[in-house]
Formats: sequence, C-alpha cells, structure tokens
Amino acid sequence: MVDLKGQYEKIKNEIDEAVLDVISSTAFINGPAVKRFQNNLEEYLDVKHVIPCANGTDALQIALMSLGLEQGDEVIVPSFTYVATAEVIGLLKLQPVMVEVDENTFNTTAEIIEASITPKTKAIVPVHLFGQCSDMEPIMELAGKNNLHVIEDNAQAIGSDYKFSDETIKKAGTIGDIGTTSFFPAKNLGCYGDGGAMFTNDDELAAKLRMVANHGQTKKYYHGVIGVNSRLDSIQAAILDVKLKYLDEYALARNKIANYYDEAFANVEEIQTPVREDNSTHVFHQYTMRIRNGKRNELQSYLAEKGVPANIYYPVPLYEQDAFKEYVSDDFHLPITEKLCGQVLSLPIHTEMNKSLLQHISRAVQSFFTVKLKF
Ligand SMILES: *Cc1c(COP(=O)(O)O)cnc(C)c1O
Repeated sequence: MVDLKGQYEKIKNEIDEAVLDVISSTAFINGPAVKRFQNNLEEYLDVKHVIPCANGTDALQIALMSLGLEQGDEVIVPSFTYVATAEVIGLLKLQPVMVEVDENTFNTTAEIIEASITPKTKAIVPVHLFGQCSDMEPIMELAGKNNLHVIEDNAQAIGSDYKFSDETIKKAGTIGDIGTTSFFPAKNLGCYGDGGAMFTNDDELAAKLRMVANHGQTKKYYHGVIGVNSRLDSIQAAILDVKLKYLDEYALARNKIANYYDEAFANVEEIQTPVREDNSTHVFHQYTMRIRNGKRNELQSYLAEKGVPANIYYPVPLYEQDAFKEYVSDDFHLPITEKLCGQVLSLPIHTEMNKSLLQHISRAVQSFFTVKLKF
C-alpha cells in the first residue's frame, strides 16, 4: 500500500545526515531537533502552538485530558473512523457518542452532530478521514452556540486546506480548539517510528497540553495535575523536519495518482470514486472507492490474486466492536456507516508510484468488472 523504502532512497542523504547529527549530539530527548521541527511545523500550518508527543493516540488523549472534562461527559465522535479516535474517550471514563457520517465525504457534519447534542455533551471530535477536511465552518458555529470543545483528529489530513465561506483558508487541524495528528510511518507526514502532535492557537490551552504531556509538571519536580509521559524523540523530529519540506510535493504526487484512478474508473458504473469537496483540498491519505454492486470482497480477493493489495478502512462500525458495546443499546444502528463498511475499498496510493504500476492496478480493477459484465 505504501513504498517507504523508495521514498527514503530519494532523500537518503538528508535523512542520514539529520539522524547522525542527533546521534553525535546525544540530545535524544527534547533536543534542538524537536524545537526546530516544532517551529517549522507551526510556520507551515500557520498555527501558534505545535506540541509534539509520542503518537496520534496520545495526542487525542492529552487533548481530552486538557479540557477539564468530568466522568460521564459526552463526546461526539464519528462511528466510521479508526478506533483510536473513540478509544481514548472511553479510557478517560467519558461517554463516546458515536454518530453517522456523510456517505460522499466519509466525514461527519454539523447537521448530524446537532441531532446528538444533549445537556451532557461537552466536546466534538470530527475526523478528517482519508485526507479531506470535514466541513468545519458549520461545526464551529454549532460548537460555539452549544459551548462545546472541538478537537480535530487530523491524523489523515495534514496539509489539507479548508476554505471558509468568506474565502479565508486555514489548514486542517488548526480550526478547532485543538488539532491532533499522527506521524506513524504510513501517514502523509510519517517518521521512522512513532510520533504525534497537537496544534492550538490558544496560549492557555497550549500550556495545559504541554503540562499534561509532561507528567502534569508545572516546574521541575512539581506536578499540578495527573499527566502522562508522551514525547517525540529527537531522531524522529529530525526526520520529520526533513520530510516536512516535501509534504506539499508528496500531496501533489498523491493527487496525480488519484486523478489517474478517477479517470480509469470513470466509466465503471459499480465504482464511486472519491468525492472531492469545493471547501477542502484533498491530500489522499487513502484513495477510497465505494463498490456499489455488493462485490467488494470479491474484488479484493481478485486483486490479491493479481498481486494488488487493497485494504478495507474500516470493515466494522465502532459501535459493533466488542470494546464499545457498553456505550450503545443492542439495536443501535447507523445505516450509512454500515453501508460504507460494506462498500469501501482503498487502493495503493503513495508518493513513489510510477505509470506502469498505476496501469497494472487500474487494469486489474477494470478487468474484474469487465469479466463480471460478460456473465
Ligand atoms: C493513525 C490514526 C490515529 C492514531 O495515530 P497513532 O500515531 O497510530 O497513535 C488516530 N486517528 C486516526 C484517524 C488515524 O488514522
């Protein structure tokens, strides 16, 4: 699904030098490389504070820990997402309220969220799934009206631009109170291990996030709140600082592949290619199609036989996972989420794909439908 080796080969000299610099400096924890990357990412995102941490799940957890929520408070989260988004809500003894998504964008909307707001709702966690920003303007309006915190799970859409109705543009993850991201190797901005970060424009919140991520420490050996130990390694920060320079180029490469697939499948009636919204650029963390004739699993096996990997993100709605059973009644259903879980299939998309590989994958998909049409 990704080619991390090919990507590394192209920037090997820069990466190796950056890594060796950290090793010879021995500043492995909170070294200058971390601060440098933090500053460069703040500039790239045009956000006041970037707070690095150990991974994207920690980023979500620390964000929730910094909002002063109380046991049983409700946090609204889409049901069609990676488990991490909702897992941390349960972990902190908060109540995840799992909601529907839009069937074209795969993201939740203000309209959907509004219907699930109760007096106990305290926060919303929209997820910018597969690389496209949720429609944040109405979500922020709704949050303002109802006094709700907004945490954007931006693990899949770093670099995506969201356009407001007055044409103002902001980077995904910098619109809510806090944005979170992951630097897992296969993410659009990936390091060579685990990493994550939080973003905010609020000085007070930034101080709180930093404190919680560092054992709740106010000054050395004084601890104001219960926190965690969550840091981005200096070596990972040095790698990310190199890769950040290429992030826009990488997004462009991903868009070219998406365009190719779009064209290749334009006439295949059974496939709905990704729907692109006018108010957000797409950074194509995944190229996710909907297979509308009920043959998704067959197509996946057929592609596997031809050596083409294709993955299902995500096969099961969160509320159907055993881990989340206690939060919903037995007859709880979200029809669009369930439909998507049965239809979605993601094709390989990364920065190092050449024409012949693209052709091979596209033809394999096309041939499945052509073969089927004959019978
Ligand atoms: C990857 C991901 C996370 C978690 O990131 P980790 O760094 O693996 O902890 C959270 N949310 C979403 C939507 C993700 O894709």
